Amino acid sequence: MITSETFIKKIKNTKRSKFAYFILFIAILVHIFWITRAELPTTNILGFDFKGNFFNYLDDLGFPGLIFLKSINFIYMILILSIFEFTSTPGISINSIKNLSIFRTFASKGAKYADLYYWFFAFVINRDRFKFLLVTLTLGFSRIHENFGITLNSLYDKLFPFSSLPIIFVFLFSLLLADFAEYFWHWFVHKYFWELHEHHHSATEMTIFSGARDNIWTNLITQIPLLPLTVLSTIIINKSLEQGSWLVFTIYCGIELLSKLFSDVAHSSIKLIFPKPFSYIFMSPSLHWIHHSSNPKHFNKNLGKIFTFPDRIFGTYLDESHIKDINGFGVGYSDYNEHGILYCYYVLPIKKLVKKYRKLFSQNRY
Ligand SMILES: [Zn+2]
Ligand SMILES: [Zn+2]
Repeated sequence: MITSETFIKKIKNTKRSKFAYFILFIAILVHIFWITRAELPTTNILGFDFKGNFFNYLDDLGFPGLIFLKSINFIYMILILSIFEFTSTPGISINSIKNLSIFRTFASKGAKYADLYYWFFAFVINRDRFKFLLVTLTLGFSRIHENFGITLNSLYDKLFPFSSLPIIFVFLFSLLLADFAEYFWHWFVHKYFWELHEHHHSATEMTIFSGARDNIWTNLITQIPLLPLTVLSTIIINKSLEQGSWLVFTIYCGIELLSKLFSDVAHSSIKLIFPKPFSYIFMSPSLHWIHHSSNPKHFNKNLGKIFTFPDRIFGTYLDESHIKDINGFGVGYSDYNEHGILYCYYVLPIKKLVKKYRKLFSQNRY
């Protein structure tokens, strides 16, 4: 296996055809369709009921067919990203198989197969779809219980007294607000809870799995404070459904899933920079490489998630021209690469945090 340095040089400089990116895009759309299939509105285009036919087709498949489809879906993103890497590597050779993201996982510092385990943990607790599930469950509940629906509705009227504004504007505004909040929280965690978040940054290889390298405590402290924003999205979506429009909900599903998929790409070895002018507005996945770069000039940069505005406004934005200065990933030495998976997942984060604040506290006393 080639060294990290050689590999990083290679992924930084790989140029891929537009056709390869197009296929990747189609594959991602199929994936979005698959995940949201139960929530999709009934579509009747030119007398053809897409959703109805799709469900009939699934029913006809029978149990073994469904199990097969489910297991394909389980590894779908890994599969399409790997095929993308493989087919668009110039001069395909047996060596390039070894250099696929999934195999680079074994080259990352830390416990053996660490990222695979973390990826599996995240899959089991459904971390990535937590927000999405919460919203769809609440919406489903409000459909069944009329009173709950009315409560959500009156909350909307209280929150947005100027509700004569088209709901799509209210939604876009809240999306922007939520993105600023996520930015701020990421910044806050870097500054005050670094001992926990260091775990995510301890990966020395960017692979499809390394995005899941994280512990239970970081998950808790990043999800609980942002919960009100999820409630806000639900209230807005509920109102638009009441008005008989699926538009806001469809956009919400699209954005949630795309940001999840792009986060997979952001942690993989695929260089994906959006074409201009999209790159001015949206964070390209590969800008996240800079966030994980071991170059001190890149520390605490590109903290944003969906939009580039928060990073630009607060001066933490580094565009794609800085990718060339990445010489490695990770934070140099990290305790998280010295211990077992479960210890890092549950114990070490708290130990490190307590140690830091104890030290700070005792320094202040004397
Ligand atoms: Zn970070
Ligand atoms: Zn990351």
